[in-house]
Amino acid sequence: MKKIALISPKGNAFGKNEKLIRFLNETGGMDSFRALWTGPNLGLITIAALFPADWKVEYIDENYRDIPYNAGYDIVCISAMTQQIVNAYRIIDRFKSRHVLTVLGGIHATVLPEEAAEHADVVMAGEGELLWPQLIQDLESGNVQKIYRSRPEEKYPFDHSVTPRYELLQGYNYPVITLQTTRGCPHNCSFCCASKIFGSGYRRKNNADILNELACIQKHFPDALVLFADDNFLVHRSACKNLLREMEPMQIRWIAQTDVSIADDDALLREMVRSGCQWVVIGFESVHFDSLQNLDQKNWKLRHFPGYQAAIAKIQSYGIGVYGTFIVGLDEDDVSVFQMTENFIKKNYLYGVNITVPTPLPGTVLRKKMQHENRILTNDWSYYTFWDVTIQPKKMQVSQLEKGLLHLYENLYTDTLIAQRLTHMKKLAKNRRRIIGAPHQ
Ligand code: SF4
Repeated sequence: MKKIALISPKGNAFGKNEKLIRFLNETGGMDSFRALWTGPNLGLITIAALFPADWKVEYIDENYRDIPYNAGYDIVCISAMTQQIVNAYRIIDRFKSRHVLTVLGGIHATVLPEEAAEHADVVMAGEGELLWPQLIQDLESGNVQKIYRSRPEEKYPFDHSVTPRYELLQGYNYPVITLQTTRGCPHNCSFCCASKIFGSGYRRKNNADILNELACIQKHFPDALVLFADDNFLVHRSACKNLLREMEPMQIRWIAQTDVSIADDDALLREMVRSGCQWVVIGFESVHFDSLQNLDQKNWKLRHFPGYQAAIAKIQSYGIGVYGTFIVGLDEDDVSVFQMTENFIKKNYLYGVNITVPTPLPGTVLRKKMQHENRILTNDWSYYTFWDVTIQPKKMQVSQLEKGLLHLYENLYTDTLIAQRLTHMKKLAKNRRRIIGAPHQ
């Protein structure tokens, strides 16, 4: 029997700017913000479901627990994003000095496997479901490779998914429990590598598997707020409507990432409310028209920009909160972007906001461009948090971007605005009750 540790390393979740960290961590009324950034590591509990039944598995989230380095593990598996990777390498070094086999996966190792291989014994560069069966076989035969890599065109057929081992999360007081129903994205935004890594089409789990996962979450965490951690949960309209109808009796409270086009589908909005949707996260990216130019491959966001306000109002009229994500400091942004963003957020009564700065993550179009223009300020990955400025902005100084970001949060999370948002939420709750009480159409 092997003893395995699955480790989610601590990162610099809210950046290294102390004033901003203090503000984000200590300000009241930001529960929705913190919930989005402190969920479990779904990748780790998913690969746990692929392990032989007799392996003893422990899940350790370093944000909540210290890592027991001397617990006698045979294998340590770490999954890390770029902002966690420097810490992940430190953890690996400490386990290697104890002769524990270290396996590193996640998005950073997938994009930069050679760098990861300088640290870990084994690197998983691709989707875990595709790669782990081979590693398990090789562990048994004693023929372990350095890098396991899936072919670019090889994607895990999501319609035969494994159920993550949610029971491993017990003992952690996560504000949300995540579930993934799709992988892949056609938009290929310049600052994101989802399309490159997971493919440009959406792959979706079948409804029976999704319902099975929801039941599993409900069994272990009866009061959980479920976050559908997809890039766009509601993209397959017909299958989603069927799913939401089946979710109704489960009485789950859920939130999800999606886009403004849901506002065009009244039947969908109704089903969302009835099935327990509380709020949705929408990546508006920018309220500056020029900055949306070429942000995604087909200018989908630019084309939908004129309809942003009407779409938000429509979604809210169904009693669903809209949480917006924005980037400030894009190449066409000068310092006026801060006021424009603040005005937009206030005017539209957004339930919560997540405002970040452009970050040239490895594997992105943005990184290539910034390298070409010699504008990358640091290659220390621990600064790649989305809140730390890592590229030279084009139309403002670094200090202006840092101050502007902090002031935006300070101006948007005042006691008065938090109270206003609560009043608005009460109005939304009234709308929800009206819709839930109405007969099915
Ligand atoms: S940011 Fe969102 S929409 Fe853009 S490519 Fe990434 S996942 Fe897709």
